Amino acid sequence: MVSVRLGSVLAAAGDLVLPRSCAGCDRPGAAVCTGCRRALCDLAVPTPGPVAPRPVPEGWPGCHATLRYEGVAARLARAFKDEDRRDLGDVLARLLADAVRRAAQQGGPGGVLVVPVPSSPAAIRRRGDQPMLQLAGRAVHLLGPGAAVEAGLRVRRGTADQAGLDRAARLANLDRAMTVRRPRRVHGRRIVLVDDVLTSGATLTEGRRALLEAGAARVDLAVAMVTPRRSPTSGLPFRSRAD
Ligand SMILES: [Zn+2]
Repeated sequence: MVSVRLGSVLAAAGDLVLPRSCAGCDRPGAAVCTGCRRALCDLAVPTPGPVAPRPVPEGWPGCHATLRYEGVAARLARAFKDEDRRDLGDVLARLLADAVRRAAQQGGPGGVLVVPVPSSPAAIRRRGDQPMLQLAGRAVHLLGPGAAVEAGLRVRRGTADQAGLDRAARLANLDRAMTVRRPRRVHGRRIVLVDDVLTSGATLTEGRRALLEAGAARVDLAVAMVTPRRSPTSGLPFRSRAD
């Protein structure tokens, strides 16, 4: 059962966070209360395989995800990134690490370099730090030997913050917007490119393009959460790559 596995993933995070208030429901105490933890388990993606946004970006390789970006999960992700709740990093890193592990298995045995999608200069100015880099670092720590983190990508100047843009605007904004900082560090490497939430897939697609052009041997994708796309015909929240 997916929810049982996820329950054990999340349970391990329980004692590591400072008491404050639950980011899911505001109840005083743990950063994520027992009830919200249970709600998170119910948001586990129903299929273990890779997912795709709709419409599917050209050349999309599939992306491993752990939770649906809904309800408590969405509140946690937003609180971590935009409400200064960095104490949620441990819970979110566990969700991300779970997806990274599955993505890394696609490339067979051997070490992987975990590269977070870069923040735009505008987002770094607004937040004062780079939450995705923190999250990737924590996930790598959880994954243990064989995984390393590399802040391998940067966004060119003049690129807007993706938040608030529609799909077409996101694609135009990100057209060849990323570059690899040190191509030697990614050349010939197996990489898992990570983000917190998969929405249109534009950010991951652009990052993957840049890494492959810089000579990466392989780039798989992993996110902690995926935005559900309702289908009027199937009722599935999103579709797997095999669809
Ligand atoms: Zn709660």
